[in-house]
Amino acid sequence: MNDEKNWTEDKGILTGLLALMLLLGLTLAAVVVYLLIRQQRLFVRLAAVLLLVFTMAAVLVMTAALVSILMLYSGRGGDAVPGRMVTRLLNIVLAPVLAFGRFIGLSRERIQRAYANINNRVVYAARPSFDPEDVLLLLPHCIQHSGCKHRITGDIYNCAECGRCKVADMVKLGRKTGVNVRIVPGGTLARKVIEEIRPKAVVAVACENDLYTGIRDTRSLPIIGVLNQRPHGPCRDTSVDVAEVKRAIEFFINRRD
Ligand code: SF4
Repeated sequence: MNDEKNWTEDKGILTGLLALMLLLGLTLAAVVVYLLIRQQRLFVRLAAVLLLVFTMAAVLVMTAALVSILMLYSGRGGDAVPGRMVTRLLNIVLAPVLAFGRFIGLSRERIQRAYANINNRVVYAARPSFDPEDVLLLLPHCIQHSGCKHRITGDIYNCAECGRCKVADMVKLGRKTGVNVRIVPGGTLARKVIEEIRPKAVVAVACENDLYTGIRDTRSLPIIGVLNQRPHGPCRDTSVDVAEVKRAIEFFINRRD
């Protein structure tokens, strides 16, 4: 998920959508200005002024989001653009971007994936570092083999490490790195686990939609999202790139001071 090719595609999707929406916003503003000049009726002029203010506010936010994404991708996101500003701006524009993307035929998942990848880029650019016990690795329950009888949602270390699913690798990673590891059935319980453990950073494995809502709802925490793999369809016997999870954990716990 985090290679340069995907990042370039994600930048293209989000900046492309934002540029198109900007163009539409500016066209709408031009039409409204024309109405203002031509129309003498007071209520039409008032409505036009209101619409113009709204349109220009939207144009400004979209321009700021577009510029900050471009700066982030140019390698200056860590210092010149406060990285969190990118996600804040994206959080504001994402609902209309999703709606517009769907309108022109892009899948919701593809836009959500781009959002999650840009969030990762922001976190990587900020280069935070934490003690292992302050980091939480959050896994979806569907990663457990559907035929497994071990109850691991309460304690992932109940896994017998038979190797039929990637839980065994996650257990080994947890032991080796010392980070907290939890497996949760859904987003609501994920939030409960975060409230309970109060981590300072999270590595979350999930599908596009869960990553998107998780990152959006937990804005104050640095979260690196790792997209799961679904060879058997959604929510059943899913998998994950273990090396990618390891890289994300090590990024958080490697001391940089
Ligand atoms: S690795 Fe663990 S969770 Fe997966 S099937 Fe084996 S015992 Fe169950």
